[in-house]
Amino acid sequence: MLIENYNDVNEKVNAACKKVGRNRDEVTLIAVSKTKPAENIAELYEYGVRDFGENKVQEMVEKYELLPKDIRWHLIGHLQTNKVKYIVDKVHLIHSVDSVKLAEQIEKEAAKKGVIVNILVQVNVANEETKFGLDKDETIKNVEAISKFEHIRIKGLMTIAPFVEDSEENRKYFNNLKQLSVDIQKKNIDNVDMDFLSMGMSGDFETAIEEGATLIRVGTSIFGMRNYNN
Ligand SMILES: *Cc1c(COP(=O)(O)O)cnc(C)c1O
Repeated sequence: MLIENYNDVNEKVNAACKKVGRNRDEVTLIAVSKTKPAENIAELYEYGVRDFGENKVQEMVEKYELLPKDIRWHLIGHLQTNKVKYIVDKVHLIHSVDSVKLAEQIEKEAAKKGVIVNILVQVNVANEETKFGLDKDETIKNVEAISKFEHIRIKGLMTIAPFVEDSEENRKYFNNLKQLSVDIQKKNIDNVDMDFLSMGMSGDFETAIEEGATLIRVGTSIFGMRNYNN
């Protein structure tokens, strides 16, 4: 079932890439395993999947301890400064850096452990009140401030688009994020590369790929519905 679902999503990724003439290896499919047991992750791991996304620090750390160490863990949920210390040496990429204050804490913990941490800057591109992320207009100035930290590399931008029935409604937001990343790249800031654009989830990843996503975060379409009660 899991493998079948994964293959279905993967086929759709292939098709979306083909549709707009993109190379398939430009897009990484991250399996968002939050709330799902380690056995599910192990099954996909056996199948060859290495990129997994979690939105809670404690859950990521628990799974990290249980599972093979060559898994690339993506922290995609809101990160509190007091939790940073648990993950800086375990996470492959933090997608959700949305303040200089948080980056400062990452810098501090990374320096302590002697590691470099790769991050994305989260942008609230649709300006939704309920969502974390920087306003589009303040992104560049925050990127510039965060770029000064020696133990952090800014690798791109991330957004969580609105939940919509028709993914076409999100196309403009994906396009806006892409454009913003191009503008930032042009500034040639030290420590900053706009290599990655993390956008697109179960409901809209194909549209996101058409607009330039390089990391898509897919949970429900691979693992099925989440149960938050257990
Ligand atoms: C849960 C989550 C996803 C996956 O959402 P699905 O709709 O289940 O694919 C993607 N990104 C973030 C930030 C999430 O928290």
